[in-house]
Amino acid sequence: MAAERGTENGSSYAWCFSHGRLHVFQAGQDPWCTAEWVTVQGATREAALAAKAEHFGDAQFFDELPAGQHHALINARGAASR
Ligand SMILES: [Zn+2]
Repeated sequence: MAAERGTENGSSYAWCFSHGRLHVFQAGQDPWCTAEWVTVQGATREAALAAKAEHFGDAQFFDELPAGQHHALINARGAASR
């Protein structure tokens, strides 16, 4: 019931560059978003946002990323989908 908030059971965070916000994916379930997201490390929402800022700065949507980070995003997606 509290799936949107509770992440202590192995849920993972992802930043979505299509929706421009953080997503929470539940452990053991397929990601419900099929757009341009990338997983970010962090046990809490704040940590996940900090990790996202560290890697991608203020970029909220895909178009705001420098070209070099498009590749990083694609690589990250490849690693996350294994
Ligand atoms: Zn999304």
